[in-house]
Amino acid sequence: MSVDGSVVDVLVLGGGHAGVEAATAAHRLGGRVAVVTLSKAGVGRLSCNPAVGGLAKGCLVREVDALGGVMALAADRATIQFRRLNTRKGLAVQASRAQVDIHRYPAEALAALDGIQIIEGEAVGILVENGACCGLRLADGSTVRARSTILTTGTFLGGVLHRGHRQDPGGRVGEQVSSALSQSLAAHGLRLGRLKTGTPPRVDVGSMNLDALTVQDETVPLDQGRFSFTPRDHTLPQRDCWVGYTNATTHALIREALHQSPLFSGAITGRGPRYCPSVEDKVTRFPDRGRHQLFLEPEGLDTPRVYINGLSTSLPIEVQEAVVHSIEGLEHARILQPGYAVEYDFSDPRDLGPDLQHKGVPGLFLAGQINGTTGYEEAAAQGLVAGASAMLGEPLLIGRDEGYIGVLIDDLITIGVGGEPYRMFSSRAEHRLLLREDNADRRLTPLGRRLGLVDDTAWQRFEAKVDAIERTEAWCRATHFRPDAPTVARLAALGLKAPKNKVSMAQLLLRPTVDWTTVNALSPDVPDVGHEVAEQVVTDLKYAAYLDRARQRAERTRRMANVPIPHDFVFARPGVSHEVAEKLSRHRPASLAAASRIPGVTPAALDILAVVLSRQVPPRSPA
Ligand code: FAD
Repeated sequence: MSVDGSVVDVLVLGGGHAGVEAATAAHRLGGRVAVVTLSKAGVGRLSCNPAVGGLAKGCLVREVDALGGVMALAADRATIQFRRLNTRKGLAVQASRAQVDIHRYPAEALAALDGIQIIEGEAVGILVENGACCGLRLADGSTVRARSTILTTGTFLGGVLHRGHRQDPGGRVGEQVSSALSQSLAAHGLRLGRLKTGTPPRVDVGSMNLDALTVQDETVPLDQGRFSFTPRDHTLPQRDCWVGYTNATTHALIREALHQSPLFSGAITGRGPRYCPSVEDKVTRFPDRGRHQLFLEPEGLDTPRVYINGLSTSLPIEVQEAVVHSIEGLEHARILQPGYAVEYDFSDPRDLGPDLQHKGVPGLFLAGQINGTTGYEEAAAQGLVAGASAMLGEPLLIGRDEGYIGVLIDDLITIGVGGEPYRMFSSRAEHRLLLREDNADRRLTPLGRRLGLVDDTAWQRFEAKVDAIERTEAWCRATHFRPDAPTVARLAALGLKAPKNKVSMAQLLLRPTVDWTTVNALSPDVPDVGHEVAEQVVTDLKYAAYLDRARQRAERTRRMANVPIPHDFVFARPGVSHEVAEKLSRHRPASLAAASRIPGVTPAALDILAVVLSRQVPPRSPA
């Protein structure tokens, strides 16, 4: 079978977060696209917590949006609580996070696939002819042929669900496993490994004692917080989340039951995320901690389900009940879905190129959790890169100083996942001062427009915004005032000391306590700009010196990135330690910049390699 007997440009396997972005990116670029997925009802499903964004992940969502993607708009339309995180810290590590409605988000993701054919079925193998992938074989015996095939199978490959001593095959709760496909991939030379992740119990809000819990703060009104650069077209009623704690009884119950946990009995061999540990892990690793914080998050407007964030577990159901009931506020909570762990196959992402195409099987692209990452946002970002690259026929390249997407792809293909599910952190980005949520559009929308990923409406809005920023910054530089008596009085009323000499608004903005409110109070003819433009102007002017330095550093790294390392390069050189040389030989980085990011590779070793490489560059021909 094919869509109508012909070959599609891009065939996407999986309708999760990677699949949706891959399919829509290829479609935006004019491709004929089809999606094969186990069930249409599962498109855009939020397997774990119905929340989008968070530290560094929020930036990925904004970047996907800046390139015309789906996730930010879908999240904005489904938001039931919006928060800004780390607001007391520097701009580079602030982040947005939205709790979203578990039914409305997938509905928005499905709507985004409008115009793309969805084929419900199980893929059991890849079609490979003349060494290249040319489509998929489905369980009903049919085939779908394509120029490029993108696998985004999440946790479904060889998935095993664990709860206590019980093990069931499955991709996630209530859904079938994808085993045959795993075998087909292994048969075609893909290097597969095992990883695991887990999820906590969900309880009925009607059975919780909300008076015993604290309402979570740091929420942001919806008119001040959203993911997409496109303004929201509607809002949903907002919901509170609550804070609770485990206690000594909870910990004792968990310790007594550890022998029944598949994590400790040896039943699970795959490594889980260290930064998102199960409650069994937390109690064992931090025996001195008297309590662990929990966030109780409603899953939506029309469901009583509340997600216990922080209580991920794969203990037997009866132990989970006792554990939940030991928590203040949850003494009588009814568990609607117990927690579980899932163990699954992933493919080593070091076998992929920067377009996420498999080096051993041309025409085959991989994106999302199948590459060993975890998280909706990481999956969406990879999906967009794979979908656009497959359609363009060349990699959608984003530098590490241009986007977290660039950091993610580069890390995956260069150093891999390092034995545990990979998630994005701001600490992974060496140029994080440049990579903020607020400027994702200025970093990436021009690239998206050039490639054809950004539509006319979004582009016009972007151009108008950039124009407003430039005009307002020019006004700030050109508008001076003297410290005359009325100005001194106005500054004093704002709690500010008057400058000694004539200064511009731009100079005044360098003071830490001066913001756009101050500018507005000092001048009657401040340009009338909205919150987003004002935020960019203040950031650009206030942090100009830091941003310049960060750009210079990025430029230096870029120059270094241009020094390629030949495939047969010998890393063992005088001055390079045995350990570093061995590491480099194992990873075989393609450039000096890639070498610099391998943990343990010292700047001194890099200097020596740079000298050796510069001597190896062939002299240019006189012509
Ligand atoms: P998915 O969203 O899983 O989508 C996979 C798609 O592939 C589905 O549509 C499925 O139907 C389809 N599919 C698979 N195999 C086949 C086949 N053979 N034929 C046809 N269709 C197929 N992330 C976090 O950030 N934090 C967490 O704490 C966390 N906990 C998790 C707990 C659990 C139990 C699970 C299951 C996931 C958890 N995740 C967590 C991960 C998060 O859900 C994923 O990272 C994200 O959904 C991955 O997106 P994806 O597009 O790669 O795959």
